[in-house]
Amino acid sequence: MTGVFLILNAGSSSLKFAVHEARAPSAPPLLRGKISGLGTRPVFSAQDRTGADIDAGALTALEPHARHETLIADLLPWLACATRDRPLLAVGHRVVHGGRLFEAPVLISPDVLRQLETLAPLAPLHQPHNLAAIHAVTTWRPEIPQVACFDTSFHRSQARLAELFALPRDLTEEGVLRYGFHGLSYEYIASILPDHLGERASGRVLVAHLGNGSSICALKGRKSAATSMGFTALDGLMMGCRCGTLDPGVILYLMQARGMAAADIEKLLYTQSGLLGVSGISNDMQVLQASDDPHAKEAIDLYCYRAACSLAGLLPSVGGLDAIVFTAGIGEKSALVRRLICGHLSWLGVALDETANARNATSVSAAGSKVPVLVLPTNEEAIVARACDSLLL
Ligand code: ADP
Repeated sequence: MTGVFLILNAGSSSLKFAVHEARAPSAPPLLRGKISGLGTRPVFSAQDRTGADIDAGALTALEPHARHETLIADLLPWLACATRDRPLLAVGHRVVHGGRLFEAPVLISPDVLRQLETLAPLAPLHQPHNLAAIHAVTTWRPEIPQVACFDTSFHRSQARLAELFALPRDLTEEGVLRYGFHGLSYEYIASILPDHLGERASGRVLVAHLGNGSSICALKGRKSAATSMGFTALDGLMMGCRCGTLDPGVILYLMQARGMAAADIEKLLYTQSGLLGVSGISNDMQVLQASDDPHAKEAIDLYCYRAACSLAGLLPSVGGLDAIVFTAGIGEKSALVRRLICGHLSWLGVALDETANARNATSVSAAGSKVPVLVLPTNEEAIVARACDSLLL
């Protein structure tokens, strides 16, 4: 019986999981699912390899407002039961920040865990949840090896100029650099590009990962040349609840004129801004698209305008444009967002095929478009499964 890897992606509002067969990371997972609504009203859902829903058993009635640790502790025995007689070989985790310490996936040891804890302030919305998942597995089955895969690692191929802030050198040396995120997603997309673009895959490809968290990565030779996120996952594009790039003077204003404390500013920038802040309605793109409130429309327009500006701003890092890829929840499913972003880029020769775009086809560019535009579903879990394979087998 082939052993399996459990992949955990513990975010701020959802816990995603997948069970992959060892030595088959590119095959669809045996099962995948998520607990959404963490911190409020958690809802469990899971599907088997064929996409059919799996009975949640005891997980149908998750306690409202339960802590992440409690939910993970409930989920682990359910997963063990659902995969039945297949031995669990390892647990792989998506970890948001690896800083300068981790340029590749790593087997988790107490020392590694201590180092990851020091990076928590750089990703306050994510890193503590990633670490909580690691602790929960250690408590459940301390003998099981655990692997951490970092969202920052893929970007370590960037040139020094792409990583630097214009700050005094002592801060740079201390590690105040542009790290970039969503690296597991970009690594997956880079790995499948040749299937869709042939030789162009090694050219200059801009990948827009548009989900609750959103960023853009400029690839050259299928490696990261530059990305829109920086020192933290707050930078770059406007997101669900995060502001993205902001004049630092606004933060000084909030402190000096409004007397706001750091914790309040953190809350404002991470959880009350972005689509939610501008619309005053929701952080959820689907909800905003269904609304006829002008603030919802303005939030979507701003999201798309800023994404297009960011995309164009990354072009000097790769010196041109051979293809655009949209991925993640909004990128894969919102025809409106793709249409608005590509509309701002028509001067680059980008043109969409409206019919293909409306049905979220794999290729959505018009026949005459100078630049192919693709919609490719991401699969961060597959990258974590690959890392488990290569570190453990
Ligand atoms: P994350 O993994 O960062 O939590 P996802 O990649 O799942 O986020 O993306 C979530 C976003 O995708 C939400 O804003 C959601 O509204 C949006 N989304 C999902 N389906 C659709 C759809 N059919 N049309 C428009 N937006 C969608």
